[in-house]
Amino acid sequence: MPRYDFDLLTIGAGSGGVAGSRRAGSYGARVAICEQGRVGGTCVLRGCVPKKLLVYGAQFSDAFEDAAGFGWSVAPPAFDWPRLIAAKNKELDRLEGVYRTLLKNANVALIEGRAVVVDPHTVEVNGRRYTADNIMIATGGHPTTPELPGIEHVISSNEALDLPQLPRRIVIVGGGYIAVEFAGIFRGFGAEVVEIIRREELLYGFDDDVRVALAQEMRNRGIEIHTRCQVARIEKFPHGYSVFTTHGQEISADLVMYATGRKPNTAGLGLAEIGVALNAEGAIEVDAWQRTTVPNIYAVGDVTDRLNLTPVAIAEARAIAETLCNDNPIKMDHDDVPTAVFSNPPIGAVGLTEEAARRQFGEVDVYLARFRPMKNTLSGREERTVMKLIVEPRSDRVVGCHMLGPDAPEIIQGLAIAIKCGATKKQFDQTVGIHPSAAEEFVTMRDKLVRPTKLAAE
Ligand code: NDP
Repeated sequence: MPRYDFDLLTIGAGSGGVAGSRRAGSYGARVAICEQGRVGGTCVLRGCVPKKLLVYGAQFSDAFEDAAGFGWSVAPPAFDWPRLIAAKNKELDRLEGVYRTLLKNANVALIEGRAVVVDPHTVEVNGRRYTADNIMIATGGHPTTPELPGIEHVISSNEALDLPQLPRRIVIVGGGYIAVEFAGIFRGFGAEVVEIIRREELLYGFDDDVRVALAQEMRNRGIEIHTRCQVARIEKFPHGYSVFTTHGQEISADLVMYATGRKPNTAGLGLAEIGVALNAEGAIEVDAWQRTTVPNIYAVGDVTDRLNLTPVAIAEARAIAETLCNDNPIKMDHDDVPTAVFSNPPIGAVGLTEEAARRQFGEVDVYLARFRPMKNTLSGREERTVMKLIVEPRSDRVVGCHMLGPDAPEIIQGLAIAIKCGATKKQFDQTVGIHPSAAEEFVTMRDKLVRPTKLAAE
């Protein structure tokens, strides 16, 4: 008779929880997963997937515009938001079904309801107690907003993905991933978009050349960006809202969206009570093995608030399953994780920014290309692509790749393998390009960038 009901009990059926549970199940472990909502989690139901579907939808406006330069006559296109939302929801329903089937096929028991950890080996759901040898917390995070008068009127990305109507004018607060992605989405569908950020530039943490270029491209598309600006208060009127800024402006809109970060879902889980250490933001502290301060309790993904990306959560959870259920101890490697922002145009990046590389290595070589993609020659679109390589000169290793432009996420995914393998600039140069493509620029950059300021100093 086994000592516990399960070998592994996971709380949260999002990307991380499902991936780790399935992997453990595939090794014959007795696994259960608890979920209080729909199966799929943030990425599938409220994040990456629905967002990307809306990004695809929004990109058609560019395609219609560009077609004329290639000889097409396109009647003024009409767009039906409720139809897109219904199609998107149908796809999410399908995906939820797929996730449920995947769990079933991996012999993972699904326990539906809110879970509370009662002691290091016991979890309670709907008044029933389940015991487990190990517990994996994969409860994700939720959007947060600052405290200010009128904040109760704003929506988050959760609601933005399910609006009954497309707003004519929207104010988006925040300069991170979610804010710039939704600015591109709403603008693509024809809405007037005002983005308010508290810094000088969008996307803190990304390479400065890419940040500056993205803001320029967004402005060229008609998105108003108010920099070094904060919201003082928001007022509701019969036909919309007014956003009052610290710059003394009043901006009216049909809708105000906040994308000012996310917080880990740890409240009410019973973790602190049993000795699981949380940081000041409520994130679970874990070691390199994803282990919390209670040795048989593990945590993965956004609830640990480190690299909040779906593939990272998945890899962390699978590492736990390998370690516990396959006698194959694996630590997740958090170095050189590629990332993308599905803004319009999109960004792809892997490795260090120029600034971070200078901090780490002192002098670095920088290769920078800015060009008008071939498609834009006939379409007439002015948009320019930016590509950048950062090289550590002593080893010749390429320590950072950054791109803003069409297909950047697809291109950077491939380059991320080279970076992970420690590729040198010489090896980039020895690689034959694919012609004609934008990606070939990454293997044909010959001239080191000399910054104008440096020129002046010399
Ligand atoms: P981010 O942390 O990326 O950005 C939050 C933004 O809000 C920053 O610009 C921040 O400014 C600003 N901000 C924070 N607090 C305030 C405030 N009180 N007033 C005004 N502005 C404020 O969070 P997101 O919500 O955009 O996304 C959450 C996470 O989800 C991301 O970190 C990312 O890991 C993940 N994600 C990934 C995506 C992808 O991979 N494509 C897509 C969407 C989300 P400041 O820079 O000054 O702190």
